[in-house]
Amino acid sequence: MSADPHFKRVAIIGLGLIGGSLGHAIKRGKLAEHISGYATSDATRKRAIEIGFIDSAATTAAEAAKDADLVVICTPVGALGAVAAEIEPHLKKGAIVTDAGSVKMAVIRDVGPHVPDGVHFVPGHPIAGTEQSGPDAGFAELFDGRWCILTPVPGADRDAVAKLAAFWEACGSKVDYMEPRHHDLVLAIVSHLPHLIAYNIVGTADDLETVTESEVIKYSAGGFRDFTRLASSDPTMWRDICLNNKDAILEMLGRFSEDLSAMQRMIRWGDGEGLFNLFTRTRAVRRSIIEAGQDTAAPNFGRDPTHATPEKK
Ligand code: NAP
Repeated sequence: MSADPHFKRVAIIGLGLIGGSLGHAIKRGKLAEHISGYATSDATRKRAIEIGFIDSAATTAAEAAKDADLVVICTPVGALGAVAAEIEPHLKKGAIVTDAGSVKMAVIRDVGPHVPDGVHFVPGHPIAGTEQSGPDAGFAELFDGRWCILTPVPGADRDAVAKLAAFWEACGSKVDYMEPRHHDLVLAIVSHLPHLIAYNIVGTADDLETVTESEVIKYSAGGFRDFTRLASSDPTMWRDICLNNKDAILEMLGRFSEDLSAMQRMIRWGDGEGLFNLFTRTRAVRRSIIEAGQDTAAPNFGRDPTHATPEKK
């Protein structure tokens, strides 16, 4: 029998894309009687109340977490330790503390020591997002059909883990479990490296002297603009990911650089067969993603064709 996904009081700390989407999903599924929220700025807290994805806005993280049965920390990874230290004395016995951080080893290092006895810490990471941030970016369907990875620490309370899993399922997610170190390695290749490549390509284009910026923008439908979506992601969030998943990211960047050199060599030596084989292999990966329901099969990501070529507008 699966666990009950409902909580009496949920606290969401960090009210941006992920915290906001979670609030909307909780409301949609009627999964809590009350949601208290906290974010650093008054403007974000006010906006969250206006939109209605939290019921009350606290003026400190501690106040938001007090009396909550579930506390979900949805701040950038670099802020998690300080938030955990602040809420520590106010956590209710039996409460579950979790997070949405994109990195897990560093979160366990920073939050773990601040979880009192009798409180259950179950780190988590919803593999769902967009390039937008802030309270207006959230929407209830963000987690639908997407994986949420839980990385329970040794000795984690089984009932707490099962309850949190049931909660994420009721928010629309499919739940998976991983060792935290393995999570960080997997995410380094499926999320962190793609973002870093995108930041790098867009940076390179921005630095070019032989091609003007207006040409880059004008002809971006040639492929460049698909990288700009990733490269427009929140700078604070991505700075924190780089600083907190250093080893796994450096490992993947090393592999990437080697493979890039191999590709350079194939181009230099006119190795058409090598290039063709690589491109055939990578095309099959795209097919597998579509078959797994993790993206649309529609051409050009299902974009409105009137937006496909800006010249038509
Ligand atoms: P976001 O839209 O930028 O929102 C971050 C929120 O955290 C804002 O409300 C911000 O408050 C608040 N905040 C920052 N520092 C804080 C602190 N010290 N105390 C309390 N609140 C604080 O970011 P997001 O995209 O929702 O990401 C949140 C977390 O989810 C990150 O850890 C990220 O790694 C993870 N994640 C993101 C994605 C994604 O695609 N974006 C996907 C999965 C997981 P203000 O608005 O007042 O500045």
